Amino acid sequence: MTYSLEEIASITGGILTGRNSRIEHIITDSRNPFDPTATLFVAIRGNNHNGHDYISNLYQEGVRAFLIDSEIDTSRYPEAGFVRCDNSIQALQKLASSHRNHFKGTLVAITGSNGKTVTKEWIAQLCPPGIKLFRSPRSYNSQIGVALSLLMIEGDEQLAIIEAGISEPGEMERLEAMIRPDIGIFTNLGDAHQEHFTSLEQKLSEKLILFRHARTILYNAGDQWVTDQIACTYADHKLCAVDPNHYDLSTLPYRDQASLENAAKAIALYDILGYNLKSILATLPSLQSVAMRMELKEGINGCKLINDSYNSDINSLAVSLDYLASVAGGQPKVLILSDIRQSGLPAEKLYGQVAALLHTKGIDTLIGIGEEISRHAGLFDCDKHFFRNTEAFLHGYNRVFFVNKSILLKGSRAFGFEKISHALEQRTHTTVLEVNLDNMIHNLNYYRSLLRPNVRIMIMDKASGYGTGTYEVASMLQHQGVSFLAVAFADEGVTLREAGITMPIVVLNADADSFEVMIDYHLEPEIYSFSSLEAFAQAARRHGETCYPIHIKLDTGMHRLGFMEPDIDGVIAALRNQQTLYIRTIFTHLAGSDEQQHDEFTRSQIARYTAMSDRLVAAFPNEHIIRHLCNTAGIERFSDAQFDMVRLGIGLYGVGFTHQEQLLPVSTLLSRIVQIKELQPGETVGYGRWGKITHPTRTATVPIGYADGLDRHLSRGAWSMLVNGKPAPIIGNICMDTCMLDITGIEAQEGDPVTIFGSEPGNTVTDMANVLGTIPYEIMTSISTRVKRVYTKE
Ligand SMILES: *Cc1c(COP(=O)(O)O)cnc(C)c1O
Repeated sequence: MTYSLEEIASITGGILTGRNSRIEHIITDSRNPFDPTATLFVAIRGNNHNGHDYISNLYQEGVRAFLIDSEIDTSRYPEAGFVRCDNSIQALQKLASSHRNHFKGTLVAITGSNGKTVTKEWIAQLCPPGIKLFRSPRSYNSQIGVALSLLMIEGDEQLAIIEAGISEPGEMERLEAMIRPDIGIFTNLGDAHQEHFTSLEQKLSEKLILFRHARTILYNAGDQWVTDQIACTYADHKLCAVDPNHYDLSTLPYRDQASLENAAKAIALYDILGYNLKSILATLPSLQSVAMRMELKEGINGCKLINDSYNSDINSLAVSLDYLASVAGGQPKVLILSDIRQSGLPAEKLYGQVAALLHTKGIDTLIGIGEEISRHAGLFDCDKHFFRNTEAFLHGYNRVFFVNKSILLKGSRAFGFEKISHALEQRTHTTVLEVNLDNMIHNLNYYRSLLRPNVRIMIMDKASGYGTGTYEVASMLQHQGVSFLAVAFADEGVTLREAGITMPIVVLNADADSFEVMIDYHLEPEIYSFSSLEAFAQAARRHGETCYPIHIKLDTGMHRLGFMEPDIDGVIAALRNQQTLYIRTIFTHLAGSDEQQHDEFTRSQIARYTAMSDRLVAAFPNEHIIRHLCNTAGIERFSDAQFDMVRLGIGLYGVGFTHQEQLLPVSTLLSRIVQIKELQPGETVGYGRWGKITHPTRTATVPIGYADGLDRHLSRGAWSMLVNGKPAPIIGNICMDTCMLDITGIEAQEGDPVTIFGSEPGNTVTDMANVLGTIPYEIMTSISTRVKRVYTKE
């Protein structure tokens, strides 16, 4: 893609001021532009951040072309050109649509509820040699993602595959106008994203808008209702109901129905395009499953390990490198990369592009694995090491090198990088707490949608992010435009700073012993008493600090920590006429915001807080003090008490009160069956012989016990875990490191996964809390640190 900025102005109907330049890349994400001087940055105003805020940074990094829709002072950027339009997203979409209209090959668009990415990737994997194919990267399927994908089409491809996803009515209209597919593929209809649609009919007819101008539509023959809807909507199109039984799929390595259907659609596409089916079917056995998610794990010696086995192509490599940068903090960045297969580019050109990408993304060390990448070693200018294959690496690598590094593993499936991942992982305990960062972002944005404009968010990250692990969550929140983090103790804050978190961090239980260290790490104390105020002021003076931010805690009825009403004058007197400290925020905590029976009390706390904080604010009129009171339940139930900021805790982690329905589950505690036994009546299971066998019983032993945080009161049938979707009650007493399940009648094998709690009704953290007569908070923060945390992200 090459345009002049002038052409872009004319296509988008925008007005160019400043310099014209040549554009080869278009970005909307301000992090690490690949080739800055030939990049156009499209500044988009979103809910969480405003792209216009990043223009000055990008200018410093060498970007010289911007598409904007807000007033900015362009005279500060004498060497840049600006295209000013009414709406940046619409302008970007106009440009994408115009670019698409020049594409002469066949454009295939895929939509549906599940399987879009797998179908897309399998079409690419089955692509016959000699055909140049483009596919949209990873899950770039939204309003912006589709536009960026279309703009990546170079123009000489025979096939371009674009994925389209929607979550609300009205969106497909705009996607269709850009994509204009020649051929449409509909994967299936499920209940994902149902919340914005009134019925399945409405959701289906919205999705089908994509195919309005397509000449051919492919879909599952198996779903009669969808088939009928498509037939009556598009009677005049060429319709192709795909039946997996129509093709010989016996060599496909995956036997589940969804895989059969996805593969059949990929084959049917080549069938109607007139390709030789025999050679395409011959590649079926080598089809690779598509790992959709990146996993972030703790590595050996303080390393972080991202395992991304999603197909290696240069576009998805760029996305993963951004993720690496976002988790690395201050750690050196290491990329372990295999040969890239199926790129359609000459090797020299491909690895040249990879080398340039690694350079701009600031990769410190490249470990190349494979003969082809090794041959092009000379192209890379970072620290570099090469190995012929994965086995050579496993024999030859130096463990001592992997200390405090952030490592991205990116390998084509054939290289078996899971062996490297295994070698570099810190622990191989089979019980893991899986934390879904995408769902966490969903929850954050949901609470954000409840806030008045300009109300900020402080995230309560205490007890290691309610058990989810601090650093990974903090780093994600820092990118999501959260204003403050709060931790319980100073050392939690120190750990975050050392890992590279730069946003403001408040320490809630700041005790005098930790003040020195807090100042060293620029952590901000909650001040709740005159003695803590005096001691902190002294420490700050000793360090020569001026204007050090503090957070005043008021006690309005919780009676835990905080200044009471009669203390206010004393606080004002102590902080007047001094330059060492300033009040950054004033807050209080509600004692019963989740329960209606306490609503009158909550109202009185709000009134007391308003009166007390008014006095402080009036006494320091120049300090722009931020006021905050609501916790999660407060945000849900007292929308008029948001003040300037709210403190979101448990809701972020997927547990709500009256708004539970709108949240997505974040944490899943998983283990595996390590042994299965068949027991006969008369035998017993476990300590104290409480598990009495009265009829022939199959048991499964699972390596999680009370030392992992599985409360022993869940013994003897009080709790059931899910084994292959079915509830399996705990039999007998829970041991320290293990427990046994009754899996009679459940189809299961050793090695099968077991869900201790997760998202299924009856099996959630809240259900477990109810069984134990406690609250979800206690369960979540009791999962022992020996249980490995694994972070997933699309
Ligand atoms: C823990 C905590 C919160 C968050 O409470 P949730 O109920 O988890 O939202 C808010 N404020 C203070 C002071 C807290 O200690």
